[in-house]
Amino acid sequence: MSSSKEAVLEAVASEVRACTRCGLWKTRKNAVPGEGSADAKVMFVGEAPGYWEDVEGKPFVGDAGKFLDMLLAEMGVSRSQVFIGNVLKCRPPRNREPAPAEIEACTPYLDRQITTIKPKLIITLGNYSTAYIFSKAGLSFKGITEARGKFYQANVLGLAVTLFPTFHPAAGLYSAKYKQLLIEDFRLLKVKILDLDKDNPR
Ligand code: URA
Ligand code: SF4
Repeated sequence: MSSSKEAVLEAVASEVRACTRCGLWKTRKNAVPGEGSADAKVMFVGEAPGYWEDVEGKPFVGDAGKFLDMLLAEMGVSRSQVFIGNVLKCRPPRNREPAPAEIEACTPYLDRQITTIKPKLIITLGNYSTAYIFSKAGLSFKGITEARGKFYQANVLGLAVTLFPTFHPAAGLYSAKYKQLLIEDFRLLKVKILDLDKDNPR
């Protein structure tokens, strides 16, 4: 089971590394397909690779990633237990915002990652990933500030999942207020993840 899921994820990653479906392939150093467990119950979805992710080909390895690591450690969760992906797999130049056409071109990869992994809980980090996953769930979205910090029972791509939007960890680096709210949101997540383990021990 798990090895066939891994094979699908590896096939998606290979396609991503060779992808030219939008213009971002021209300026990338490395595509960032995402990484983690093929059997993860918990999936994190960020926005797009930044400078260091582009250099290393791995998600959340820059400053925002270090803060995410701290939040994960607080929860007692390691990166290898979860899957961490992004809406866009290649870095937009100068970290500009994703363009609608890029999101449309790239999200079939994220969709395949979700339908392969079949997570129980999807944590969306920031506006872009929340807007995308909420649209797939048929939920209305007015912005991350309003949506964040709550659990939503939803159907995404035919899967029954719990959604939990929160701020992008980068927001916690420039604002003490967002940092505090991220810490509070991850406390809620810790309780939820312990419940998931109780229902369905690993
Ligand atoms: N920000 C993101 O949204 N994703 C990454 O992988 C790194 C920074
Ligand atoms: Fe392909 Fe996505 Fe990279 Fe665009 S961002 S080139 S669609 S992998």
